[in-house]
Formats: sequence, structure tokens, C-alpha cells
Amino acid sequence: MTETKTVMTNAAWRAEGARRFGTDDIMQWKFRCVSCGTESSPADFEKVNADPRRAPHECIGRHLKPVMHIDGNSKPCNWTAGGMFRLSSVVEIEGIEGKPTLAFPFADYIGGEPA
Ligand SMILES: [Zn+2]
Repeated sequence: MTETKTVMTNAAWRAEGARRFGTDDIMQWKFRCVSCGTESSPADFEKVNADPRRAPHECIGRHLKPVMHIDGNSKPCNWTAGGMFRLSSVVEIEGIEGKPTLAFPFADYIGGEPA
């Protein structure tokens, strides 16, 4: 199986987010869960009392009660970009605390390509 994930530096990722969303305020950026397609922002995470820094990495379903489980229909789900199963649309960001970090694609990415 060929891995086709995107690899970006932290600086390039931040510049791309600012370009796509028209602000460098990451709280306003949206990320799309690679499993269920739910789009959420760090501000959305804050509204449900979850750590906003997790928004690029986890489906908001992980932070809603009751906890949702992946069954192919649950939305939002409990997927995490750094979990056991990796999907090719995950973005690998380099240069954060010295190790690569896996993140969901920006919300306006369709099929791995910029909209
Ligand atoms: Zn999800």
C-alpha cells in the first residue's frame, strides 16, 4: 500500500492555514476529520470544554458525551490523526517539539487536493 500523506513544515502549515482561512488566528481554522468528515475548529473544541490545541488532531466526537464509537455511521466519531490506523489524507507536520505531528487536513481540502 502506498502512503500518500502530505508532509509540511510547521511554518508552511501555519502559512497555508492563514492563507486558506484569511487569518493567522488558529482558533478560527477548521479541520476535517478523516474518518467521518466532521469539520471543527479550536473554538468549537473550547465550546465543549475540550483542549483547543487538540482540534487539528482529534475528531470533536471524542469530547462529546456520550462518547461515540466508530461504527461507520456515527458522526462525529472518536477518530484521532495519530491513532493506530492512519489514513492517507492525514498531514504530517514537522518541527513541532522536535518530532513530526499528525493532523487532519484543513476543512476545505477535498480528496487531498486544495478546493
Ligand atoms: Zn470523526
